Amino acid sequence: MKTMQEYLEDAAVAHGHLCAGQVLGVRMAMLGLQKLGLEDPQGKDRKRIVTFVEIDRCATDAVMVVTGCRLGKRALKFRDWGKMAATFVNVETGKAVRVAAKESSKVLAKSMHPEIADKNQQQMLAYREMPDEQLFQTQWVHVELPPEEFPGYKGDRVTCEHCGEGINFCREVKHGGKTLCRSCSGERYYEPIV
Ligand SMILES: [Zn+2]
Ligand SMILES: [Zn+2]
Repeated sequence: MKTMQEYLEDAAVAHGHLCAGQVLGVRMAMLGLQKLGLEDPQGKDRKRIVTFVEIDRCATDAVMVVTGCRLGKRALKFRDWGKMAATFVNVETGKAVRVAAKESSKVLAKSMHPEIADKNQQQMLAYREMPDEQLFQTQWVHVELPPEEFPGYKGDRVTCEHCGEGINFCREVKHGGKTLCRSCSGERYYEPIV
């Protein structure tokens, strides 16, 4: 594992700027991986990690930098819950740990560095200095990870009986005796125009 400083430099490049979220994300991921004994995410442990992130904010980019988990590799799972938390899974052992930022860390940052007026600068510094226990809450958890959730899963693609589009990774839905994609089954985020 690299040092926090090295990861912060990598994260700043990947994310476009250094911010409090990057510090939080780097530390969150480092703590999660340490707890799981995955000390070499860029090397031998590269294919052993699956990460669930619960927010799409600055910190998410930093979590990706440290863990190496990417959406396109299917090693990053997004649960849109709006919470500053992530769960790290060692797919080899099945062990998993959820790390959540404590609400109290913001107030603590303020009390640690009242001399810094800019909130982002204040948190950026305080989040580097704060001990893990004050910054995060950690919990051992069980994550059900069926075969189709694994990064290397190879399965058959099925076709939606309504729109004709192909569906991978067992995401089809049985609806009234038909095999449908999630969109055609009613779970759509868009409406066709015309
Ligand atoms: Zn940012
Ligand atoms: Zn369809």
